[in-house]
Amino acid sequence: KKAEWAQLVNAESKTADGETFELVANIGTPKDLEGANDNGAEGIGLYRTEFLYMDSDQMPTEEEQFEAYKTVLEDMGERPVVVRTMDIGGDKNLPYLPLPEEMNPFLGYRAIRIGLHQPELLRTQLRALLRASVYGKLRIMFPMISNLAEFRQAKALVEEEKAKLVDDGVPVADDIQIGIMIEIPAAAVLADQFAKEVDFFSIGTNDLIQYTMAADRMNEHVSYLYQPYNPSVLRLIKSVIDASHKEGKWTGMCGEVAGDQTAVPLLVGMGLDEFSMSASSILKTRSLMSKLNKSEMESLVNKALTECTTSDEVANLVHDTVGDII
Ligand code: PEP
Ligand code: MG
Repeated sequence: KKAEWAQLVNAESKTADGETFELVANIGTPKDLEGANDNGAEGIGLYRTEFLYMDSDQMPTEEEQFEAYKTVLEDMGERPVVVRTMDIGGDKNLPYLPLPEEMNPFLGYRAIRIGLHQPELLRTQLRALLRASVYGKLRIMFPMISNLAEFRQAKALVEEEKAKLVDDGVPVADDIQIGIMIEIPAAAVLADQFAKEVDFFSIGTNDLIQYTMAADRMNEHVSYLYQPYNPSVLRLIKSVIDASHKEGKWTGMCGEVAGDQTAVPLLVGMGLDEFSMSASSILKTRSLMSKLNKSEMESLVNKALTECTTSDEVANLVHDTVGDII
């Protein structure tokens, strides 16, 4: 199998009936680029920038951030790089950024909520990103967006920082896409409205599942409720993809589900445009995709969403249909 996968490093990500998809990598630091390249990543679908903050004992400067982003963008060249603005809070803390003690950190002060409440932090990151944008194909993504007002505020910060840089004669790319993570059910439900204003979505299933099922992703006592194939989760995912396509936008996925071999046939059937995963899953997913028929997977999704009532039923249906391939 490994030998078969190795043949696919430079291959397109294509189904048996010729539909193409984008298979890209999740990275945490520029050090992860080597793995992404070795495994044939067609770009970076999630650069988790919080590691830049977590690996430091003070707030990284604009210059330090600029260097890291530039390294990643230059390395990828023509290939797109989706950089997520800092996703601190929840389970990720910084020793030098005091956060309030909270009963429910995953429902609390985290990610874009911190960025909008302490905009200087976000502005510094955005300036570093905008300056780096001329070195590659940058896409900026905001985490934990729950409503459109947040997205508009965050986008306004990008526009303001861009205008200042341009005024100062600093070159900034003019084709930077700005998108959001869909990881809060409220945003998934209103995806049709978001789709008119964003350039893209990336579905963060790690959080979307925990918030949809009300099951803490870190709590083993409720892990049985953490159900990636629950029809409720799958309906949300499909509605987000459909909403984006209606507005001519694209949808990716950067949660663990994107590289899950049982989920991939369903996601192909739904027409997910971009699959972002740890580099080590890319080649086996490309191999799996090459054996699937998109048209058959569309019927599979239809059946799963109309006939299945539980996560287990969906998993069984997938295995009964394509179990010999996955
Ligand atoms: C997610 O929630 O699916 C995601 C990709 O973000 P993180 O795992 O960093 O919260
Ligand atoms: Mg998340």
